[in-house]
Amino acid sequence: MSPSPRVVAIDGAAGSGKSTLARSLAAALGLPYVNTGLMYRALAAAALREATPPDDDQALVRLARGLRFIVRVEPPGELEVEGYDSSELTSVEVESTVSVVASHDVVRAYMRREQRELGNRHGAVMEGRDIASVVFTDAPVKLYLQAPADLRAHRRAIERSSGQGSDVAAALGRRDERDARTTPHEPAPGAVVIDTSELDPQRTLAVAIEAVRELAPEMLGSGPTASGTST
Ligand code: C5P
Repeated sequence: MSPSPRVVAIDGAAGSGKSTLARSLAAALGLPYVNTGLMYRALAAAALREATPPDDDQALVRLARGLRFIVRVEPPGELEVEGYDSSELTSVEVESTVSVVASHDVVRAYMRREQRELGNRHGAVMEGRDIASVVFTDAPVKLYLQAPADLRAHRRAIERSSGQGSDVAAALGRRDERDARTTPHEPAPGAVVIDTSELDPQRTLAVAIEAVRELAPEMLGSGPTASGTST
C-alpha cells in the first residue's frame, strides 16, 4: 500500500471560508497552499483571452495543457498560474463562466491529475470542491466547510470590496447552482464538517488544527504549531 499523502484536503462552497482557513492552516503546518479554484479560473481566463467557447471541452483541454501551475516549496508558497494575476482570475467575466468551464468531465480529469501531482510532490493544504471527495480520498485529514448562502455572499462582497451585495449574492447563487450540478455540495466520507457561521477565522483554524492533531499528529511535527495553538 502506498503511504498516505501529506495532504489536508478541504472542500466547501464559495464563501464558506475555505481559502482563509486553507492559507492559515498551510502556514501553521509549514506546507504549500494550493487553491484549486485558481486552476479552473485560469482556464476560464484563458478561454476568454482566446475566445474559446466555454462549452467546447476539447478546446478547453488543449488550453489547460498550456497552463503552468507553480508551487514554490522553499519556503512553502501558494499556487500560482504563470501569466495570470489575481485581478484577471477574479474578474466578473471569469466568475460568470468558470463553473461552465469546470463542468466538463475531460477538463476535470485533466485538472485532477495535475492536482494529484502537485499534492503528492511536496504535500499541501489543498482546497476546492472535490479534493477530499475525489482527488485525495486517501488524505489523512479531510475537512468540509459550510455556512448559509446569505453569509457566504456577504463575505464574498466584503472580500471583493464591493458595495453591490445583491449582485454578488445573485452571481454567487448562479455559480453555486451550476457547481452543485457538477460536484454536489456535501462532505466526503470521513470528512470533519466545520460550520463557520459562528466561528471567526482564528476559531476555525483552531478547530482544524485539533482535527489534524487527532487524525494525523505527524503533520504537526515540524510546523510552527507543533507545541500547540494560540487562539
Ligand atoms: O474556489 P473558487 O470559488 O475560487 O472556485 C472557482 C470555481 O472553480 C468554482 O465555482 C467551481 O466552478 C470551480 N472549481 C471546481 N472544483 C474545484 C475547485 C474549483 O469545479 N476543486
